[in-house]
Order: sequence, then structure tokens, then C-alpha cells
Amino acid sequence: MSRVSIVKCSNYEVGRVKEAIKKSIDHLGGMSAFVKPGEKVLLKVNLLMKRKPEKVTTTHPSLAQALAELVIEAGGKPIIGDSPGGHYFYNKKVLEGVYETCGMKEAAEKSGAELNYNTEMIDVPYPEGKITKTIKTIKPVLEADKIINIPKIKTHMMTVYSGAVKNLFGIIPGGNKMDYHLRFEDVRDFADLLIDICSFAKPTLTVMDAVIGMEGYGPTSGNPKKVGLIMASADPFALDVAATNIIGLQPEQVPTIKKSIERGLCTGDVKDIDILGETLERVAVKDFKKPTVKVALNFYNNALPKPIVKAINRMIKPKPRFKYDTCKSCAVCAKSCPPKAIEMKNGKPVLDLNKCIRCFCCHELCHFEAIDIKRAWYAKWILR
Ligand code: SF4
Ligand code: SF4
Repeated sequence: MSRVSIVKCSNYEVGRVKEAIKKSIDHLGGMSAFVKPGEKVLLKVNLLMKRKPEKVTTTHPSLAQALAELVIEAGGKPIIGDSPGGHYFYNKKVLEGVYETCGMKEAAEKSGAELNYNTEMIDVPYPEGKITKTIKTIKPVLEADKIINIPKIKTHMMTVYSGAVKNLFGIIPGGNKMDYHLRFEDVRDFADLLIDICSFAKPTLTVMDAVIGMEGYGPTSGNPKKVGLIMASADPFALDVAATNIIGLQPEQVPTIKKSIERGLCTGDVKDIDILGETLERVAVKDFKKPTVKVALNFYNNALPKPIVKAINRMIKPKPRFKYDTCKSCAVCAKSCPPKAIEMKNGKPVLDLNKCIRCFCCHELCHFEAIDIKRAWYAKWILR
């Protein structure tokens, strides 16, 4: 039976975070059960974009620092790394800016961890994959002996929830993520892709930043929400089942969990998980706001054949709407749109709805929260 450890952690003070992480890993046999002396350990944080930690978009640096220290104490060599999303070139200059703003530079300096600047990318055959047989990944994933996955608990406008499994999408280099969005437009296929990538990366351990999560319009435009927890598990699928249970999402509402049940990777039932430390009932956050638009759509997304879903989507699926008074004309949305559905006209983004695949990358990557997700009035009526 998979084990998930849950420990309370009230804030991001490094000492407190380290104590909570240590306790959560001790429930699973201690760091030495996961990291052996001399091993190179990639700390795969969530660095979705260049944002300060208090915006709760990225993994808090105190987790990276604490985990790096624990890896060093176990004799390992930690390397902090991720590949930010969007059109950004995956290069040293971009990484420097992201590490600095997200607090990872300081976390590395204080702990003695290395920061990854190797921007090579490699196509790796993955015959075991269900939906993709090749995965393009960043080099440090292949060079590491072990990966410790450090996601943040968040909502997500496309995948409903972003946690342990979704965090591994970051091993796809920079703008290459857009190609995957284009290839796997249907959320069910995209969920299968995320599971393939997670299974390929095979993290030895996942430690979730559930101290302050993001609710509502995640993964970048939602609001901070205190959950007050550190969660750890060797099984990312079980960890996601436990974490979504805490924030009040049903397994069938989360495409990656629904697909992982179909693929026999978990049952989706918390009764089949050995929960260590706190009980789920004691730590449940009943008022965690869900991405309601997406959750409402899942009933047909999960039940009907893909061509019918596609036709319905065209009519009622929510679409991005630009807030021109907030828009700073940076063009990140246009550059990050996989099917090039956004064109900059007179310095402002304009959407071609016929090309839009509703991946919401534009919403996810706009630094100025200038993109809303809206659905038609008749869709609201149908889905009310
Ligand atoms: S909507 Fe956001 S990403 Fe697009 S141009 Fe405006 S500020 Fe930039
Ligand atoms: S405009 Fe549509 S296709 Fe382009 S990034 Fe936004 S949601 Fe995705």
C-alpha cells in the first residue's frame, strides 16, 4: 500500500519547514531511504515563471533550501532545477532571472546546493509511454541519480489541479511545452501525457509545498490559500489523491487522477493509502476555491467521445478574454500561444477563437493578470 505522510507547517520560516519536511520523510524511513551518499539529486521545484515567492505561483524557496540541506546531510549532492513555461528560451540568462526572483539563488547559497544552468535538451525514447513514445527533456533529469519532486498545491484552469504529477511537465524544455499542448489538445490526452512524463521521470520522492497553496484561477492568477501542510510520498499518484481530498476535489474531477485510476496506477480512494502523521479529516480545507468553470465541464469531457467533445467545446468551453486596461502589451500571450491564435494589433492582443485550443497557456503566463477566463451566457445556463 502506498504511503503518504502529512505534517503541519504553519509558515515558511526555514527552520520550521525543515523540521516539518524531516518529520514527513522520517515517517517514510528517513532521507537515507531515498538518497545514498555520493548521489546527484535533482530538486525539481516548480518555477513556472519569474515571480516572487509571496505570489504563491512557484515552489517556496524554503522547501528547496531545507531539502537541499537534508540531501547534503544524507551525503547527496543537490541540484535545484526546472524549466519555466511559455515561449521563453531555455537559456542561462532566463534561468538566472528566474532563480533570482523566485528565491532559489539565495536558497542555493544558504544550503550549498548547485543551481542547474545546463540547458541541453535530449529526445529520449520511452517505449513504455501510453500516448508518447519519445520525451524531450532537460539534460539534468538524465544526469541525476535521483529526482526529488517539489510541487506546489494549486488549482489549474486546464487540468483542474496542479500537484505532484503535473509538476513533472516542467522537465519538458521551455517552449517545447507548446508543442505538447498542440499535439495533445484534448484534456484526456494531455492527462495521459502528464502521466507518461511523470512515470518517465520516476521521482524517488515527492515533497509537496502545501503550506500556502493557490485557489481559484490557478496556476498563476488565483489567490493564496493557507493549507498549512507539508506532504511527502514515494508515490506521486497517491500523493495527488490525498492532496485533492484535502482541498475537496473528487478523483473524477481531476483528469490526471481519473486517468491514473484507468491505468491502474492508483485506485483514487484514500482508503487504499496508508496516511501517516495527520489524518485527512483533521487537515481538510473545506473552503478551498476550485476552478469552477473547469470542474463543471468535466462531466461531458469525461463521458463523451472526443469528436463530440470537440464540437461541444467550440460552443461552450470558456475562452480567454483580455483586460485591455490592465494589459501591458508585452506580447507574452501571443508568443506563448501554441496554435498562434493571438495576434498583436496596435500593441494589444486579439484572439482568433477558431484557432484557440483552450489550453489557457496565455492566462497561465501573463505576468499582469490581464487575461480572464470567461464562458458564454448560454454555457452558464447549460452548466448551471
Ligand atoms: S494580455 Fe498579458 S501577456 Fe498578453 S500582451 Fe497583455 S500583458 Fe502581455
Ligand atoms: S489563445 Fe487559446 S490556444 Fe492560445 S494560449 Fe490562449 S487558450 Fe491557448
